[in-house]
Amino acid sequence: MKVVLQDLTKIFPSRSKNGQEVIAVNKFNFEIPDGKLIGLLGPSGCGKSTTLYMICGLQKPTSGSIFFGDDDVTELSPENRGVGLVFQNYALYPHMTVKQNILFPLQNFKGKDKLTKSEMLERAYNVAKLVQIDDLMERKPHELSGGQQQRVAIARALVKMPRVLLLDEPLSNLDARLRLQTREEIKRIQRETGITTVFVTHDQEEAMSISDMIVVMKLGVVQQIGQPQEVYDDPVNLFVAKFLGTPPINVFEGKVEKGKLYLGDDAVMDVVGVDDQDVYVGIRPEGFIYNKDGALRCSLRNVEVMGRDVSIVSENTASLNPTVRSIVDADNKVDATAQEVRFTLKPHKTFLFNKETEERIGFEIKSVKEETTATKKVSKATKSKTAK
Ligand code: ADP
Ligand code: MG
Repeated sequence: MKVVLQDLTKIFPSRSKNGQEVIAVNKFNFEIPDGKLIGLLGPSGCGKSTTLYMICGLQKPTSGSIFFGDDDVTELSPENRGVGLVFQNYALYPHMTVKQNILFPLQNFKGKDKLTKSEMLERAYNVAKLVQIDDLMERKPHELSGGQQQRVAIARALVKMPRVLLLDEPLSNLDARLRLQTREEIKRIQRETGITTVFVTHDQEEAMSISDMIVVMKLGVVQQIGQPQEVYDDPVNLFVAKFLGTPPINVFEGKVEKGKLYLGDDAVMDVVGVDDQDVYVGIRPEGFIYNKDGALRCSLRNVEVMGRDVSIVSENTASLNPTVRSIVDADNKVDATAQEVRFTLKPHKTFLFNKETEERIGFEIKSVKEETTATKKVSKATKSKTAK
């Protein structure tokens, strides 16, 4: 079931007399493809939950429309939309067993949808098996771990055979190891059921790892939509570049002069086709090449060998962060006692941004070793990927 959001907007009126209204979601346009898992991603307060609640019908949009397939569901009540919803805090009925919790939504089915007792049980056991809690059916929620409780909550959402599955930060209450395991489970369950799913999280790594597509939001406005790798490799603006990636992207103040990019006094790269201007420069940690003759000079602070990689921590006066973090292959023998460390930059891991708008500035990459073609145009980051 594809889900279409058209100019979806939610404005909360101000609580006080001369307070400001809050535009929680501002003209969200997106066609969620059938059967895909979409990660809705952004910092706290950017409008993720509000978007999800409008899709499920708990919040009424101020303007705009929502379609499930060709059906306009904008005015439909939550019960009639056929959605399954899972929250951060499992919200199970404490006095009921796992089985009773899972059966509960089926008991409300009326008329032609009404199920017999044995049909209900069959469905309950099928979803329990799917989320691997079928041996816990007689337990009460307090007899389960957090991860198991969340599986029950997912089973309860799935037992209705929803057209759309909506998950609001479902892993936030789990410890790190369970979070990792449960997110892989969610991915598997989503694949097996093929239910169109929207997964809300503020954790970029979580979203990147399980989503077919991610939507990055900021202050109610969609910034970029795309496959996780595509958005990581080709961010449309500084916000998106900074939001994705661990360790995060290194940001510098730089300047373009006569086709060369300067960080401080160092001419670090050719950026053909960019007008002279001050810019923000984002360099991914993996965008540095350790090179004793490299143009970018940094003061070496620390070298951390991490098996496959070496993480080099250094300082540079043009950096907006206190330290610059570079990750290079462990084959590099980095001299940890040196005062200075030098780098060459990988052009496709280096992004320029307009100093005022923070929008990405594209440039030509010329004859770089690691590129297969002699000239490659960076920044396919066109407006088509940005929802207006
Ligand atoms: P997120 O889930 O991304 O953290 P929300 O969708 O919960 O963000 O909130 C988006 C914005 O809308 C925030 O500024 C929040 O304070 C505001 N907001 C959310 N719900 C309400 C409400 N019921 N009344 C007033 N403002 C709200
Ligand atoms: Mg939220």
